[in-house]
Amino acid sequence: MKYDFLIVGAGLFGATFAYEAKKKGYKCLVIDRRNHIAGNIYTCERQGIQVHEYGAHIFHTNNKYVWDYVNQFANFNHFRNSPVAIYEDEVYNLPFNMNTFNKMWGVITPEEAKQKISKQIIEYGVNEPQNLEEQAISLVGIDIYQKLIKGYTEKQWGCKTTELPPFIIKRLPVRFTYDNNYFNDTYQGIPIGGYTQIIEKMLEGTDIELNVDYFNERDYYDTLADKIIFTGMIDEYYNYCYGELEYRSLNFEHEVHDKINYQGNAVVNYTESTVPYTRIIEHKHFDYGKQEKTIITKEYPSKWQQGDEPFYPINNESNNQIYEKYKLLAKKESNVIYGGRLASYKYYDMDDIIIEALKCSQKNL
Ligand code: UDP
Repeated sequence: MKYDFLIVGAGLFGATFAYEAKKKGYKCLVIDRRNHIAGNIYTCERQGIQVHEYGAHIFHTNNKYVWDYVNQFANFNHFRNSPVAIYEDEVYNLPFNMNTFNKMWGVITPEEAKQKISKQIIEYGVNEPQNLEEQAISLVGIDIYQKLIKGYTEKQWGCKTTELPPFIIKRLPVRFTYDNNYFNDTYQGIPIGGYTQIIEKMLEGTDIELNVDYFNERDYYDTLADKIIFTGMIDEYYNYCYGELEYRSLNFEHEVHDKINYQGNAVVNYTESTVPYTRIIEHKHFDYGKQEKTIITKEYPSKWQQGDEPFYPINNESNNQIYEKYKLLAKKESNVIYGGRLASYKYYDMDDIIIEALKCSQKNL
């Protein structure tokens, strides 16, 4: 055996594990299907701008240990995500806060906003929210649901809000203060110089092979190491024996514009159903860039099929049941360790991934 660990996937989970393993003197081989490292946090410099090639990634955490950990690999700026939402020709601040309520209804005090929302909840008649529509209305009332949530969510997930679980919308804060910070976390920022350098530094001194599809050469790669860290799709690992898990995919359209400032903000959401994309990212604003040109990315949600990039697991009951079956198979493996968003079939923020990878390394190294 040439290696202690074969790590399938050069994303944040695999790279964190590889870094910890290297520190303890283990030898790893990291392989990835793509032609670059860093998975979905990959950023690439174009026109002097760090472009988030797989959608906006904003680092945020409450965990001081994790914050110090990532700061070993990059300096972070003080970026705070304050997206705006455009519905027809109206512009609203996100997440839902006093600025949003003031623009929607003209209310000024938290008390007035709460009264307005309570009245709308009573009119709609929700008690225990059973789906995303009911959950959204019970948090912010009908007007905000109709203008800022319904269209966006149905584009994002490709189904009715009444068919989606309530928890998805609970990711967004609702605040009765004039605070446009999208996240509640204490530590937030964007790495100056992009995310790819973080993964590069984590993988320094570790063997990496890119453009390698593990599933095409599984027999060969399995012979190279004692243990495997698998960060890909768990259903693919088991050859879809219990059926396919569903994902939502995204298509990105990058455009270079010959102007300094295209939209005045890093993230602008388009919440009406007739605009085909959900949001436009203007990358230079993540780093307060002063470049002559600008790069924007339109994000189009799309139906996922085998061969597409899986972005969001669709954690409904039937998929979760299938996942549980794969998990039982996974538990029986003595040489394979699963980790990351795809193998766990779970939406993870970057800090969660680091925590999971550190726990995994403590247990297995
Ligand atoms: N959402 C919405 N309107 C918005 C932004 C978000 O209705 O303008 C809902 C939507 O259902 C989405 C969920 O909130 O799936 C979570 O949004 P978040 O911004 O956390 O999604 P991500 O950035 O992870 O795609």
